[in-house]
Amino acid sequence: DLEQNMRRATLNSCNEFEVYYQPIMQIGAEKNVCCGAEALVRWNSTELGFIPPNDFIPLAEYLGLINPIGEHVLFEAVKRCKYWNDCGYPDYKVNVNISVIQLLQPDFVAKVKTILDKTHINPKNVTLEVTESLAINDMNRMKNVLGKLKALGVCVALDDFGTGYSWLNHIREIPFDVIKGDQNFVKDLADDAYSQSFIKMVAELAETIGVSVCVEGVEQPTQYEVLQGMKVKYIQGYYFDKPMTKDMFESKYASLPMKDKE
Ligand code: C2E
Ligand code: CA
Ligand code: CA
Repeated sequence: DLEQNMRRATLNSCNEFEVYYQPIMQIGAEKNVCCGAEALVRWNSTELGFIPPNDFIPLAEYLGLINPIGEHVLFEAVKRCKYWNDCGYPDYKVNVNISVIQLLQPDFVAKVKTILDKTHINPKNVTLEVTESLAINDMNRMKNVLGKLKALGVCVALDDFGTGYSWLNHIREIPFDVIKGDQNFVKDLADDAYSQSFIKMVAELAETIGVSVCVEGVEQPTQYEVLQGMKVKYIQGYYFDKPMTKDMFESKYASLPMKDKE
């Protein structure tokens, strides 16, 4: 059922796949400011209702349908970010999750380039998130693709850091711009010394190699307070906001009054 519906939805120009946006906050000494958003896909299936990504991405990857779906998400998110950039938020960035299946398509880099060209976005405002949890067998191939993507001017983030170990040896060689620690290390952050050490370690490591750290899954004020003492540049989580529709994101974080000021 899921498979048939997904095939139909992707043939149908992917418009059942809606992109939500969760703000990413840059942590400052005096105040925190929104610096963009992570794009997170949801499937509004006419047949099956609202389906969260964890319930369909694995099947989409298995069926190869993640390629058209992922391309749709990337195009929508980049178009939206370009709009924010033009409306008085020139430095807002959008982060888009890229499946390893997409990365291994021979034409993936060309597809990204087409989207950058079509939208006229400043490539530095696009961050592609790749996850460490998927088994990466061919590290040289991965390094090659990520290198080509970086050459287009986009940023690359390592997502879910800490869930696998394969990348630890490679974070020096692959020029990541951002490392996102896995959410599990945030859950007990307020009272678990191990989680605190993990995030501190990632932050130290990142600083040494000139990479920023984003901590996601921050829900509680106590978690946020613990992070304030660490070298963490970006925070994302329900503590600030949940993922929301583009209209909600725009009314809250990219609103007209600011546009008028420009
Ligand atoms: P992710 O990339 O690690 O995204 C973060 C997930 O954590 C999102 O779940 C987000 O809604 C959730 N989250 C954010 N803040 C909090 C918080 O404070 N507490 C808790 N408990 N959760 C928080 P979501 O949107 O359900 O997405 C789940 C996963 O699905 C994503 O994890 C990502 O791996 C995948 N995904 C989502 N959109 C796409 C996409 O367009 N392409 C691909 N390939 N994967 C996607
Ligand atoms: Ca992500
Ligand atoms: Ca993550």
